[in-house]
Amino acid sequence: MKLTLSDIDMRGKKVLVRVDYNVPLDANLKITNDKRIVSTLPTIEYLLKNNAAIILMSHFGRPKGKVVPEMSLKPVPARLSKLLGKPVKFVGGDCVSLESKKAATDLKPGEILLLENLRFHPEEEGKNASGKKDEFAMDAFAKELASMGEVFVQDAFGTVHRAHASTAGIVKYVKDAVVGFLVEKELKFLGEALEKPVKPFLAILGGAKVSDKINVIENLLNKVDTIIIGGAMAYTFLKAQGVSIGASLVENDKLDLARDLLKKAKERNVDIMFPVDHIITDKIDFTNKEVPPTAKVENTVDESIPEGFMGVDVGRKSIEKFYEVVKSSKTIVWNGPLGIFEIDEFSKGTVEIAKLVAEATDEGAISVVGGGDSVSAVKKAEVDKRISHISTGGGASLEFMEGKDLPGITAIPDKKR
Ligand code: AMP
Repeated sequence: MKLTLSDIDMRGKKVLVRVDYNVPLDANLKITNDKRIVSTLPTIEYLLKNNAAIILMSHFGRPKGKVVPEMSLKPVPARLSKLLGKPVKFVGGDCVSLESKKAATDLKPGEILLLENLRFHPEEEGKNASGKKDEFAMDAFAKELASMGEVFVQDAFGTVHRAHASTAGIVKYVKDAVVGFLVEKELKFLGEALEKPVKPFLAILGGAKVSDKINVIENLLNKVDTIIIGGAMAYTFLKAQGVSIGASLVENDKLDLARDLLKKAKERNVDIMFPVDHIITDKIDFTNKEVPPTAKVENTVDESIPEGFMGVDVGRKSIEKFYEVVKSSKTIVWNGPLGIFEIDEFSKGTVEIAKLVAEATDEGAISVVGGGDSVSAVKKAEVDKRISHISTGGGASLEFMEGKDLPGITAIPDKKR
């Protein structure tokens, strides 16, 4: 267990909080979704209650170590200020400029300052001014950031899988470091689901590629009772078992690996379930994300797909088959859509699974959904409020499921026993 906000006396302290304000903007640089800002409010409000002076640090987009005016965090303070009903200070340009440092020094208890985009500095991501990997440059930048406060709070789950100056490097230069409420909640749900799951434990995996999820499958094989595999990933596994998959997306160089994973699953008594039928089409317009009017769309009779057709969603019989196992599971983790859910006609499988996971949760299961697409799917199915936990970090939650070390978490000291 990592140190958390309540483990340290925050009263009157100058607190550096790493947040993830990488919010979507429209062409006029207006925030179109403020969920990432809203999800940091519990930590900020707690610190305000403790009369701390709060210095918020975030990245925004991928400016690659250069000042890119459209990637300024400038649109954020007004929205945060509105949500908190309090002014939020902001210094543009450079997060460690003399002006930024002065603003940090002058900040009084109960006040809030947001620093400019950390990634305008190449050192944030471990590079020097010439764009070369440079641990010393990163360390010096981490030290400069740390010099602006006394306590560090990690509340940006979306970036904890990165070993950056503001996620891991900073910790050794502050007096105390803890995780914020958002990260604490992520660790509780993801950690408990994976380490102490109430059985039966089901994982649902989908998405485009087996190669992206190999490590997740390997790690889950030691923990789960059943894995449902859908999406394009399923076709590599089906082909590896000799099933015809027509023109479906497949990774031909991963067939041996798929066979190896199936063998391991058998040895460990893990039931891997694949679709038993599919929605298929002979034409698809990937660029405009639509089905051309002349396309044939069908539900196959079994798991095989005829030549010239590609699988784009799980079929009706598959959803029925998955029903029992989802409903009888007590812990469910889900990452990745079961079809090309961005296209309405092919979103049914994913949306139905989202509803089933919500029903299982209503009946007492713990459900954890991660990954941008699965999160969009539970929203599309309008069941997001019924899921136990929706992870705020796609990459980070995937690495957590792989059993990997997350540098931004590892850096925070453990609670004393
Ligand atoms: P990932 O980022 O690996 O979770 O993959 C998500 C993407 O997989 C989404 O854009 C889906 O459209 C895509 N996907 C899911 N099922 C299929 C499929 N049967 N064929 C092609 N793409 C798919």
